[in-house]
Amino acid sequence: MINVQQLHKKFGSHEVLSDISTSVATGEVVSIIGPSGSGKSTFLRCLNLLEIPTSGTIEINGTSLTASKKSIHKIRQEIGMVFQHFHLFPHLTVLENLTYAPIKAKGIKKEEADLKARVLLKRVGLSEKETAYPNSLSGGQKQRVAIARALAMEPELMLFDEPTSALDPEMVKEVLDVMKDLAKSGMTMVVVTHEMGFAREVADRVLFLDHGALVEEGKPNEFFNDPKTARAKDFLDKVL
Ligand code: ADP
Ligand code: MG
Repeated sequence: MINVQQLHKKFGSHEVLSDISTSVATGEVVSIIGPSGSGKSTFLRCLNLLEIPTSGTIEINGTSLTASKKSIHKIRQEIGMVFQHFHLFPHLTVLENLTYAPIKAKGIKKEEADLKARVLLKRVGLSEKETAYPNSLSGGQKQRVAIARALAMEPELMLFDEPTSALDPEMVKEVLDVMKDLAKSGMTMVVVTHEMGFAREVADRVLFLDHGALVEEGKPNEFFNDPKTARAKDFLDKVL
């Protein structure tokens, strides 16, 4: 589904991503881990062109993001993104948060969008909150709304950038459980996370970034039990 070749990203003269090549298969769950500042968010943001690569190619479902400027809008609709800080629309109810983009960007009728949104709210355990406003919700509830909102666009791919990092510890599980269900349902997911438990249990593959380089990638078991590089060993010693 995703094919990245020789991706480089510079901010000014600062090379933040250097020569990253990897791919993600349909239905695969890939976790990106690595130290703060290693380029994880920048990599994720390149995948939906929130950042423009300096060089290299990115294909999503066979369509080049980097070559054709025309289809970016269309491709972005197929990619859901969930951020650390939720980014809900504060002036809209929970239900309206879910229906806004389907109605505006896809032209779906309100009644149909409402029906779909209710199914998604049920799925994330928030049926009772449809008329609530975001500021009345807990962090875990906000993030579950954010995931449901992304799913309302029926994306083929979901990107998560540290979705649990801003949450109080007791709310991490409810969000990870929703993500686990999504993974089980066959969604293709790329997840930047500090939750090593999630990476270990749920991911099919782990990418380890350090100083903008893809230093190591492998199956979670191999990576966590037997890292190949000194940099990965050092990182795991600090976080596990
Ligand atoms: P991570 O998500 O792994 O913590 P980031 O991708 O956010 O890392 O950042 C990688 C590097 O790129 C950092 O040194 C950061 O300061 C820099 N960086 C990120 N975004 C920008 C930007 N918009 N302009 C300049 N530098 C940036
Ligand atoms: Mg980041």
